[in-house]
Amino acid sequence: MARTKYSEQFCGYCNKTMRMELGGEMEGQLNRAWFRCTRCHHTTLIDLKIRTDGGVEARLDAATATLYSPLQSFKIGEAIFHAEWNDVGKVTQKMKTSDGSQAILVSFEKQGQRRLIENLRPEAL
Ligand SMILES: [Zn+2]
Repeated sequence: MARTKYSEQFCGYCNKTMRMELGGEMEGQLNRAWFRCTRCHHTTLIDLKIRTDGGVEARLDAATATLYSPLQSFKIGEAIFHAEWNDVGKVTQKMKTSDGSQAILVSFEKQGQRRLIENLRPEAL
């Protein structure tokens, strides 16, 4: 995906927000990247989570995500929080299981992709 090479980032050397050049992302660290200040030319590792220009997709937040319960029904794209795993994920798909109950496919930050039961009727227990 194309991303603009320059963006406003906080430079610790200039001690202010400067125009900085993206120098490459760190291997295995999707949320951090090197940026080079166009003024002092120092390279700083920037935490992309704090970017405010909308260049990076907002991380899922457990505080705003819906608490997962098998009794509830979810929407595709909805952020959910699984209390037992202490993990947040996004609903990517809805499906029906072989026994006719409803399930959601969730892409969790730590657990990866998991299938969870949704809209479970208490009488089916
Ligand atoms: Zn600088």
